[in-house]
Amino acid sequence: MADCLLRCALCGREFNPESRVKTCPDCGIDGTMHVLYDYDEAKKRMGRKELAASFDFSLWRYSALLPVKEGARRPSLHVGWTPIYSVSGIAREYGVREVLVKDDGRNPTASLKDRASCIAVTLALQEGQETVACASTGNAASSLAGFAANVGLRSVIFVPEAAPAAKVTQLLVFGANVFLVGGDYAATVRLAIKAIERWGWYDRNCAINPFLVEGKKTCAMEIAEQCGWDVPDKVFVSVGDGCIISSTYKGFYDLHRVGLIDRVPQVIGVQAEGASPIHRAVQSGARTVVFGPSRTVADSIDVGAPHNWAKALNAVRSSHGDTVAVSDGEILAALAELPRRSGVFAEPAAAAAYAGFVKMAREGRLQASDRIAVIVSGNGLKDVVAAQEAVSPARKIAPDMAALENALGLEKA
Ligand SMILES: *Cc1c(COP(=O)(O)O)cnc(C)c1O
Ligand SMILES: [Zn+2]
Repeated sequence: MADCLLRCALCGREFNPESRVKTCPDCGIDGTMHVLYDYDEAKKRMGRKELAASFDFSLWRYSALLPVKEGARRPSLHVGWTPIYSVSGIAREYGVREVLVKDDGRNPTASLKDRASCIAVTLALQEGQETVACASTGNAASSLAGFAANVGLRSVIFVPEAAPAAKVTQLLVFGANVFLVGGDYAATVRLAIKAIERWGWYDRNCAINPFLVEGKKTCAMEIAEQCGWDVPDKVFVSVGDGCIISSTYKGFYDLHRVGLIDRVPQVIGVQAEGASPIHRAVQSGARTVVFGPSRTVADSIDVGAPHNWAKALNAVRSSHGDTVAVSDGEILAALAELPRRSGVFAEPAAAAAYAGFVKMAREGRLQASDRIAVIVSGNGLKDVVAAQEAVSPARKIAPDMAALENALGLEKA
């Protein structure tokens, strides 16, 4: 383990990582842990010069700030250093200085979750575990299954039965032991937690295992480095359980602590209106989050009882950020608009982040001087059924030129 310690996000109590605590024994399941490092030591290993000279274009380039031992066996799948695109057409349309699209759907199983799964299997191997397990709305599961296959671990996966077919198929092709749970995500998580307790499997539930947010934070670190350490003003991320938003803040926080950036961008959390407990807590200034039922087309953020709410609230407040809620209609409109303007195809939950940007821009809540980053957390091919809702169907035509001329002529008229 790199030198680090765990600190409860609620009560601040600190723990040694070797103690194997997951969530805080005093605060229970809500007491998720921050992982903190010896930042003076990390500073020496991870300066601008060292990074500029590094040929490791993966998440491991930030290993001085990752909770993994040097020399540990790592999966061979390539994770991270995904492209970021400055899309001037979008910036012009919405009246901001720059819009950056970070395409994290380019990871090996096509979502940002790979950054966490990569760390999960590395730590599972380090601990000599044979089985890794998780509950997931879909992407964490397909990601873990892929990484388990890559290193030869057994994976046991629990997903709600409503998970999109592409994600479930990914699980099956990677050879996972898959259980489609007859209930919602909350019920799925409860079953997984009990099974993990009972059989002692390695836990890849991001809100419970404190080390996984550490993998995901490398997305924010890349954004900073890809911007030449001149970070954007606002970073938009979609929010379900609250792990990605926590990790986005954590990545910038760590870079600030080691002096690589001079400020932390505002982190803007985007939720679906039908699943917005974190948004409601932020807007009302509440100290805790009230759980409820959830319903949205964006399955990856269809979470009514977010497990990482404590860290998520901290991410918004500590970065002087904000939250915004978008309707399913706005998500589908964004899903259709982003690829037309950028060439990047996002699944509904990832399109939600873009929808949040569009909404705040339209409401006049952004500045003309703003540089914006939008994290595309998952690839659009993950859920083509939702995408079909957002576009008009292709036209059918007989296989002859007359019919084609006719069709094209009709279009001109
Ligand atoms: C998991 C996921 C999210 C939400 O992340 P949380 O950590 O649950 O808030 C957003 N988009 C995609 C594509 C995801 O897979
Ligand atoms: Zn605590």
